[in-house]
Amino acid sequence: MQPDLAYLLTPGAVVDRDGGPVAQAAARLIAEGLVCASTRSFVRCANPDDFDFVDALDPSCPGRVAAPEDGVDDWTWCPRCGRRLEASRKSAFEATVLEPNLVVLRVRLANVLAAAGLPVREQPEGVFRVESGDREAAVVLMDACGSAVRRVALEQGAVAVAADCGRFSWQVPHCTKLLAAAELVLVSPEPLLGAVRTALTGQPTVIVLPAPQQSAPERPPARFLLPSGAGWGDVTVYYVDGATVGIAVPGARPVHASAIELGMAKERARTPSRRFALLLHLCRHRGRTDWKTAGFAEDEPLAFDNFAAFRMQVSPLRRDLQRLFGLAADPFAPIGRSKPLVAAFRALPETPGEAAYLPRAG
Ligand SMILES: [Zn+2]
Repeated sequence: MQPDLAYLLTPGAVVDRDGGPVAQAAARLIAEGLVCASTRSFVRCANPDDFDFVDALDPSCPGRVAAPEDGVDDWTWCPRCGRRLEASRKSAFEATVLEPNLVVLRVRLANVLAAAGLPVREQPEGVFRVESGDREAAVVLMDACGSAVRRVALEQGAVAVAADCGRFSWQVPHCTKLLAAAELVLVSPEPLLGAVRTALTGQPTVIVLPAPQQSAPERPPARFLLPSGAGWGDVTVYYVDGATVGIAVPGARPVHASAIELGMAKERARTPSRRFALLLHLCRHRGRTDWKTAGFAEDEPLAFDNFAAFRMQVSPLRRDLQRLFGLAADPFAPIGRSKPLVAAFRALPETPGEAAYLPRAG
């Protein structure tokens, strides 16, 4: 099985036009209307034609980043291996960028179930119910429904499918396998059909979902749910590598996440933003820094011209952290020109001891 096929329905997936198996699979998805395609210019992390190929951590690294505009001197990180890239000195090439079409994907999923002789109805959007006698099974397309429906459906044993697997893999219960929609379409629907048949032979279940809330504007749900009453002091963020942080909250397994998964990547290029670099830097410096320290750090210096430029990165990082953890309180102590930036959460340069993740008693 092609390991890279699973990500082809991820929003913004980049595919080289080299005619290889991944490009051919992408062409099938385009032909079937499951993705929309556009063209953009990229540089490769590990490109034998580039001056920095000898320094590649992994000579077969598949990482790519958007080519910078002419004249822009852009340093960035490889989203796959984390090494720093001087993108403006590397050779650029055209590649195809894919965006999934969820409406077509929903129709496709329903057809796959129906073709296997399983009578299916979609209710609500993104939840496909299959009935057999007094038993019911459900398939939830994670990308196509709201967070409350996703959570309740999974709690009640729905089979989980996602187009954007990286985004949802952390949301499925530990014993549940998240099926990649791209693999079901491109390789075989059998894993989905097998899971549905297994669900239909288990306990009779009726999947009951909460009615969608019509009026209240949906606040983006917190990615990392904290127990009630918990605050920033209960959150641990730790350095994993140049492209990944680990996140630990009470009562849950720690999660490793990239800038893209945390919504901290640059919108178009999907490379880590400066605020993500600041978060990594904070971890390496145990939650305490200022604009001068950041500029002179031995590891991955993060230069700021002045305090104002530094504060300009602190603000979006604060908003992102509040959104990710669903906390309204400030994740930082008040900063000032002579006051360092101090995290209210635990920021660590290495993985903390396993004991830290045990659910708190009582
Ligand atoms: Zn790389």
